[in-house]
Amino acid sequence: AIPLVVAISTAISAQKGLLIRNRTAFEEARKITAMVFDKTGTLTEGEFGVTRVRLLKADDEAGFLGMVAALEQQSQHPIAQGIVREAKKRNLVMPTITNFQSITGKGVSATVDGRQVVVVSPGYLKEKGIEQPQDAYGSGAETVVFVLIDDQLAGYVALADKIREDSKEAVQRLQQSGIKVYMATGDNQKVADAVAKELGLDGVFAEVLPDQKVTIVKDLQAKGQFVAMTGDGVNDAPALAQANVGIAVGSGTDVAAETADIILVNSKPTDITNLVEFGRATYRKMI
Ligand code: ADP
Ligand code: MG
Repeated sequence: AIPLVVAISTAISAQKGLLIRNRTAFEEARKITAMVFDKTGTLTEGEFGVTRVRLLKADDEAGFLGMVAALEQQSQHPIAQGIVREAKKRNLVMPTITNFQSITGKGVSATVDGRQVVVVSPGYLKEKGIEQPQDAYGSGAETVVFVLIDDQLAGYVALADKIREDSKEAVQRLQQSGIKVYMATGDNQKVADAVAKELGLDGVFAEVLPDQKVTIVKDLQAKGQFVAMTGDGVNDAPALAQANVGIAVGSGTDVAAETADIILVNSKPTDITNLVEFGRATYRKMI
């Protein structure tokens, strides 16, 4: 027979925008003491618009952005989609590329006209010991991806995203349930700080590489926390697997969904809050 709590949870979950892949996850949700959110596509919509294009060595912006878009056409990342949309809007020519590779959680790389081009995160630059240009971050909180041609910094593209409408409520209600709420993002410190401030987060980890998301989860577990991780990307999958409860955003990648215990069908962070609150109330009634 199906245990009562499972029967209840499955029925309620479907109404609440949750797809439970691992039945114990419903029981586990009430034990969560720390929640780690990914940023892009999770707390934010992952709908990027290009705000600035900066060339450091040449002045052919159309050629530069067209080349970047040619690489990004092969990527599923929300940043990639934003760049391709802009290139199409400007009717830019996208050159032929070869040897395309996605560098998970860091960016993309390919060969264009015999030169190696990479479009990458601030974390990648740090790893290579390349300094970020002084003007990379404007007054606003922008996401910036850097373009290297044969290992030389050639320019960057700045983009802006929006915080999801119900992220703040989700964070506040989790905190009211006594849960510490953190964010781990591959994006730059400035954007991360702006989002953390807006949402009132308990802690923020910026410019992290994918394996560092796993370490963040492990470190919290080592401190005795019962950790949930919520993310949307391929790069979040290892951390979702490491967490006590792994939660994938419905609009995210298949890899994240396949790794997670729970999927947020409507991509709404408050659906997690409902799950935690409901899980706790159900168990109080049953004991
Ligand atoms: P977040 O952790 O905020 O969800 P991701 O981990 O998905 O962000 O990506 C981390 C960083 O890696 C991005 O902020 C970006 O700098 C870089 N990145 C990932 N994919 C791409 C891509 N296709 N093109 C350019 N940069 C990318
Ligand atoms: Mg993400």
